[in-house]
Amino acid sequence: MLWTVARILFFVALVAALGLGGAVLVETGGSLRIALAGWEFSLGPLQSVIAGIVLLFLAWGVIKVFQLILATLRFLNGDETAISRYFDRNREKRGYQAVSDGLIALAAGEGRLALIKAQRAQKYLDQPELTTLLVAQAAEAVGDGQKATEAYKELLSNPDTRFVGIRGLMKQRLAEGDTLTALALAEKAFALKPRHAETQDILLKLQSESSDWTGARQTLKAKQKGGSLPKDVYKRRDAVLALQQAKGVLDESASIEAREAAIAANKLSPDLIPAAAMAARSYILAGDKKNAARVLKKAWEAQPHPDLAAAFAEIEPEETASARLKRFAALTGLHPEHAETRLLLAELNIAAESFPAARRALGDLAQSHPTQRTLTIMAAIERGEGSDDAVVRGWLTRALTAPRGPQWCCDNCQAIHAAWAPICSNCSGFDTLSWREPPEGAGASATGTEMLPLLVKTPEKPATLKDPEPEIDLEAIVRRGE
Ligand SMILES: [Zn+2]
Repeated sequence: MLWTVARILFFVALVAALGLGGAVLVETGGSLRIALAGWEFSLGPLQSVIAGIVLLFLAWGVIKVFQLILATLRFLNGDETAISRYFDRNREKRGYQAVSDGLIALAAGEGRLALIKAQRAQKYLDQPELTTLLVAQAAEAVGDGQKATEAYKELLSNPDTRFVGIRGLMKQRLAEGDTLTALALAEKAFALKPRHAETQDILLKLQSESSDWTGARQTLKAKQKGGSLPKDVYKRRDAVLALQQAKGVLDESASIEAREAAIAANKLSPDLIPAAAMAARSYILAGDKKNAARVLKKAWEAQPHPDLAAAFAEIEPEETASARLKRFAALTGLHPEHAETRLLLAELNIAAESFPAARRALGDLAQSHPTQRTLTIMAAIERGEGSDDAVVRGWLTRALTAPRGPQWCCDNCQAIHAAWAPICSNCSGFDTLSWREPPEGAGASATGTEMLPLLVKTPEKPATLKDPEPEIDLEAIVRRGE
């Protein structure tokens, strides 16, 4: 800082002197008279300019000598490398030039050039953390995995670059599909920088994939503490993980802990349908029908869903269809205009053989929003009311080509899943499944079967249709969405 100020002052003084010299030159009529220690010079205009240039060179030399003296003083003061640094400044300059060229080549996608520049920088500069890093990046860019690995391993020895080295190795293992080593490296990287968002994400993904739900929940908590996750998203995701944890315990048929874990999951996130259904089932297992109904009602209030209705039916597996219709009023009264509620009510009424009530419940859903489910329900109503077989068959053939209605869809890759899962089986996305209609076209066939209803003729014998018997398997109807 001080040195910069001195240099600026020097230049200002130089410019002032030159200006003054010019003025004197004009005043004395073109010649410069200098008196110095008894000597007297008289310089013409050209000579004056030459003298000025010589003076400039002298000044530059003085600066260099002054720098050397400074370096010597520093050396004498105990800075052992001060003098060699003074002479190495040129080398250093070339080294930094190589680093800068390498970085530009890297950004321009010229991996091979970047690697050459990186190796040159390594020769000139004594900054392994900088040059090795550049070598690693350039080696990655040209696809030289071996060289990149060596460079990353070198970075591990320096505490400043240790994290970068681990991260580089982890990414390489991930790309190779060696998730086990990648997980170990991610854990190390996480221990070094628990607030590093990318590491958190990778670790979370690897832990979920390897079913380490306890570890994943800890990582998620760190993520929330780090501020990179809103509280409500954290709650939902933690519930997802807790649910998985609970499922794992269920598999080993340790029912008490499973029940508690599932209920904890449900408490965290009452709008999470699978958690609610599971919590309800664990209450049913414990014989606590009241609480089972309570969690399901709460979840239905948040979002009506066939999985909830299926669990609600399981509370009283032996009841008659009409008793069931009455008991379900607790659910169907909550969102009477919701399509899911209307479909459920129609199905319950079909099971109880009150077809006009089923038709009323369904309303215009089969026309306004025809899906496989609404059209099949319509066919069952027509059948129950004794309509002509051709009419029933008409609804069923329409159902064949109708959209599927809401499904568990991945928000990432749009894959459809039969049941909810925390990880998309197609793209491995975490917590990406949502209950919604698949994108347009997913339900319709590409073979033009939309023409089928027009082509199908009435056969001579009436087609055999499954009877909507009173003891109809309600779960099967309700679960049709699964
Ligand atoms: Zn997906």
